[in-house]
Amino acid sequence: MLRIGLTGGMGAGKSTVALALADLGAVIIDSDLIAREVVAPGTEGLAALVEVFGADILAADGSLDRPALAAKVFGDDAARAKLNSITHPLVGKRTAELIAAAPPESIVVQDIPLLVENGLAPLMNLVLVVDVDIETRIHRLVEFRGVDEADARARIAAQATDEQRRAVADVLLDNSGAPGEVEAEVHRLWTERLVPFEQNLRTGTSARRGAIRIVPPDPDWPAEAQRLIARLWIACGTTASRIDHIGSTAVPGLPAEDVLDLQITVADLAAADSLRDALGAAGFPCRPDITQDDPKPTSQDPAGIDTALWSKRFHQSADPGRLANVHVRVAGSPGQRYTLLIRDWLSADTDARAEYLAVKRAGEAAAAGLTGVAATSAYQKVEEPWFATAYPRALAWQTG
Ligand code: ADP
Repeated sequence: MLRIGLTGGMGAGKSTVALALADLGAVIIDSDLIAREVVAPGTEGLAALVEVFGADILAADGSLDRPALAAKVFGDDAARAKLNSITHPLVGKRTAELIAAAPPESIVVQDIPLLVENGLAPLMNLVLVVDVDIETRIHRLVEFRGVDEADARARIAAQATDEQRRAVADVLLDNSGAPGEVEAEVHRLWTERLVPFEQNLRTGTSARRGAIRIVPPDPDWPAEAQRLIARLWIACGTTASRIDHIGSTAVPGLPAEDVLDLQITVADLAAADSLRDALGAAGFPCRPDITQDDPKPTSQDPAGIDTALWSKRFHQSADPGRLANVHVRVAGSPGQRYTLLIRDWLSADTDARAEYLAVKRAGEAAAAGLTGVAATSAYQKVEEPWFATAYPRALAWQTG
């Protein structure tokens, strides 16, 4: 099951996008609706609220008088925390039930206005943010939904900022255009990304790799890596001791293939194996065919032939819209230390970076016309010998 989070500021067009996704076959889970359901008349949720806040939060018909409850918690952090401690677990439980009831091949879209405020982004396989500037949103809320302008401004001011939402967005859907435009964008996203992502996730397949292309450095790479790392932390829990952005996309200013490399550090290979299913469900299926890095000379093994020292587990993103490699390596192993060292050395040394870029270009040329594993292998044939010579230099740099 692919789990998508959908959010956006009030009036951005979440409902519009959710409707378009439902038309395409997504299972929509509406958190506002659930929040109302769990405190409907006759529920344990409403009974708990009455017990804490008093019977005067009820309307004449026995339903929750929202403004009355809002007045009681307004400006009172303790009361608000109490309210959340009652409703959040109920919303969570109902959400979990609905997710569990969705067929395994579903694309589940959770429409959550407060996704950012509640820190839920890392729980999702992908986060879609509907983005429209505030003035347009206010205009639409006033014009089409009859909301009072001052009320709209106050409520928007109480929510996360557009910047905060953009920071968690894997996909930013611009809904500032004419009606219908965002639906076309959603349609494209569905066929090109969400459907293959779900299929890959269900079958434990990594997203297909095309030809190797070295592209100019993308200033968004570090932030994208941090979004994936937040997801990996949820999947790993305390089994990981650190998770790092490594590889060429982690070296500022270095042209690279548009594939993020991430490293999960664990205590031993058994711990690496124990993460297999959780990483798969998070969107990073295991590549069981790759179990080690190419050995390089080390002080323990000057000939650089001991492959066991370089064992790892390897996962790749199932998302065709965000290629990524996840290396699970043992703390203190040569591979785990080497990758961090090379990243830091290349970041610090302009000449080394230029030299490495020339090697990357040569690798790209060697892989021209190839795709997938054949391309990677042709590329690595050029790159790996350079790394073998770079390692001692990086070590020398480290020890000064
Ligand atoms: P949200 O669910 O994020 O609060 P809605 O989907 O309800 O936002 O959209 C807010 C209002 O703007 C609705 O009345 C909707 O019909 C309207 N709307 C949505 N997209 C557009 C658009 N591209 N152009 C004009 N109005 C739009």
